[in-house]
Amino acid sequence: MRITCPACQATYEVPDRLIGVGRTLRCKACSHQWHVGPAEPPPAPAPPPPPAPAAAANRPPPLRPPPRAPQTIDPPLPTAASVDRGRLALRAAWAASLLSLAGMLAALWLFRVEIVAAWPPAARLYLLVGGIAEG
Ligand SMILES: [Zn+2]
Repeated sequence: MRITCPACQATYEVPDRLIGVGRTLRCKACSHQWHVGPAEPPPAPAPPPPPAPAAAANRPPPLRPPPRAPQTIDPPLPTAASVDRGRLALRAAWAASLLSLAGMLAALWLFRVEIVAAWPPAARLYLLVGGIAEG
């Protein structure tokens, strides 16, 4: 094995068996001491470089959503007038329902004879409310 002094570049022919797994040598010319390891195997081939990011820089930027108009979330606060209108509407609804109920009861009373003739069990209901006088 050819050994070269790293300090003075002097070369020596050293048997490999003297070096073995490693040995500290001393240069005769310059008294430099250095460590010599065993003969290294040839270096492994370098792995291929990673593929370059192709056209990554040319990619267009992500599309942003179009701006939307501001949207109001909270409903408008009810004003006094709207509250009054709501109360009037509620009263009107109550009145309408009461009128319809009264009209239905009046129809039931007015046509009680016909209703009993068409549906005899209804006579019991009329007896409950004390309606039918004539048999
Ligand atoms: Zn030397």
